[in-house]
Amino acid sequence: MSGIEKALAGNPFAIDPTQCLLAAQALESFTPSDADNPWSSASQEAQLVFKLFFVAICHQINWDFLQRRMYEHFFSADSGEMLERALTVSAKSVEEMLEGYHRPERIRASERAKYLRTTAEAISTRFSNDPAALVASNLVFGKHGLLELIRNIPAYGEDPLGKKANAFAQELAREGIVAFSDGDQIPPAIDYHLIRLYLRTGRVFANDKSIFRVLSTGSTHRMRLVNLLRQTVSEALSQTATYARVPAHVLNYLEWQIGRNRCEREFMNCDGPWPAELFDGSVIAVSAHCPMRDSCTAYHTPEWKRMLEPAIKKAFY
Ligand code: SF4
Repeated sequence: MSGIEKALAGNPFAIDPTQCLLAAQALESFTPSDADNPWSSASQEAQLVFKLFFVAICHQINWDFLQRRMYEHFFSADSGEMLERALTVSAKSVEEMLEGYHRPERIRASERAKYLRTTAEAISTRFSNDPAALVASNLVFGKHGLLELIRNIPAYGEDPLGKKANAFAQELAREGIVAFSDGDQIPPAIDYHLIRLYLRTGRVFANDKSIFRVLSTGSTHRMRLVNLLRQTVSEALSQTATYARVPAHVLNYLEWQIGRNRCEREFMNCDGPWPAELFDGSVIAVSAHCPMRDSCTAYHTPEWKRMLEPAIKKAFY
């Protein structure tokens, strides 16, 4: 049995509570601003349906690029029209919608078209063509809550950790599309940006040398390792949010912006200003440099800078 296999017989990942506390202190001043998007003035149902299809295909592609293109090519103030479009969407039309993306191998038009169609089919067959049924209870949890209902949609139901389902609930809450009565409890949506950030800041670490080494390579890993790591990052994020006294989904959004704008795979912007393309002033207001800098393990330990998220090509990653 290899060292990795032995380590994976248990859980080789652990949380450092002190690092979570220090990170929380650096982030607790964050005050999210109200979302102001081109679709914000549309009806609640149109916004709900737009987000439902957007999040269904939001994997392995830049979030802002996808959302902008979907708004330009797919959005309609008439939610029924969007459902019709999704039911008959082809790979070719997805390819056209995403034309010019800087990493064309990530467009995966057939896969995205299939997710759009199966989402529309599920709304038609399982929710009697009434997407508002997903949020009729205004609850995230429980038998009639969004997270339970949305498992019926293939794009949302296949991830054991429910990343897209959680991200969808977070988007609805953050943009004020749905006022969930239990919205403060929405679980984290863990993607590769957050995994990388939590490893580098030392909040999640591998307590086994062979796992530590393999995380420095950014190579493809077995699913058990990925699932254990995602689960541990999710718990560490919830712990950090508790220390910061903010809902997990609010912290999730801020940390995701730090991961994708500063702590990238190949480049870490620890000391410089935020990139010009980040328009969210509430994130910029937290700190002129990386807010994690003072306590970040990678900032002070060069070996830790090599930490990378595992590479997998799953649609929920
Ligand atoms: S200080 Fe640098 S290495 Fe640490 S989280 Fe920020 S950008 Fe990443």
